[in-house]
Amino acid sequence: MNKQNELTELPLVGVSACLAGQPVRFDGGHKHDRFITSSLSEHMKLLPLCPEMAIGLGVPRPSIQLRMKDDEVRLVVSKDPDTDLTEKMNNYAAEKLSELSHLDGFIFKKGSPSCGVFRVPVVVNEEGFRNYDATGVFAKAFMERYPLIPVEEEGRLNDAALRENFFERLFAYRRWKALEKGANNVQRFIEFHSRHKLMLMARGSSYYQELGRMVAGTTATDLLQRRAAYIKRFMEVMKLMTPPGRHVNVLQHIQGYLKKVLSREDKQELLSVYEAYRQKQLPLITPITLLRHHLRVNPQSYIGQQYYLQPFPEKLALRSVL
Ligand code: SF4
Repeated sequence: MNKQNELTELPLVGVSACLAGQPVRFDGGHKHDRFITSSLSEHMKLLPLCPEMAIGLGVPRPSIQLRMKDDEVRLVVSKDPDTDLTEKMNNYAAEKLSELSHLDGFIFKKGSPSCGVFRVPVVVNEEGFRNYDATGVFAKAFMERYPLIPVEEEGRLNDAALRENFFERLFAYRRWKALEKGANNVQRFIEFHSRHKLMLMARGSSYYQELGRMVAGTTATDLLQRRAAYIKRFMEVMKLMTPPGRHVNVLQHIQGYLKKVLSREDKQELLSVYEAYRQKQLPLITPITLLRHHLRVNPQSYIGQQYYLQPFPEKLALRSVL
């Protein structure tokens, strides 16, 4: 498969099977998420997976939970804590995860002792007191094995900013994988960093500089080592959220490239659109579209290369939400 095909193929996203509408929950129900099965499935290939079914629990099944035992978080049957499923789940994960290295992202079910990513409840004493600070056993194994693959929970995808951040990471990671599969070429490494400049600046200009230092001076000899360190830090930085004020800074930075060609009225219009975006009266796509229009009329090759202006396919409409 050549580089072109990889990027034109749809992203492959793992998803907790109950979110895809499969009746795999302990009570035979599902947690069908329409954003995932309608909007997303048009633009991505989904790979539904239910770890609890996969370890043979079947439906209906007794509910399970996380519970502290001897200072360890264990996966147990809620009404029979002596029935410990941790090892079974870890063994399944160890085997299954080797088949999932090609995923571009994973959307997990929140709160699940197997699939939850954030704040999963764990029973900490005999009275049933819970802490909300654990991660589901399968999700934890996935993230440990594939720390670079972006993961998110379905509930958090209802938040426009978190959703945009997840898909920015997912598509950046795809671009990285295409780069890794191509020729081992220092120039392509430098280009990757350079074309993500504005996306990094949107997280804070110091991150662009920090990552730039990791790229600077790369030679063919240390390329693989440099790339491994770079992508680890890059994906960490990409998790950071971009507040509207910082987006406005980046938009103004882009406008700077057009200062000699825009009329006073054009500049004024852009500034008022940025302000309306900052005040949450307009979505981010509005100033971006206006800037892209000016860039079409007055092409600026450096800015035109920046993924910031189109970090994911337009049809996902992720920047259209206030
Ligand atoms: S949360 Fe995970 S383990 Fe639970 S039913 Fe959904 S897919 Fe299966």
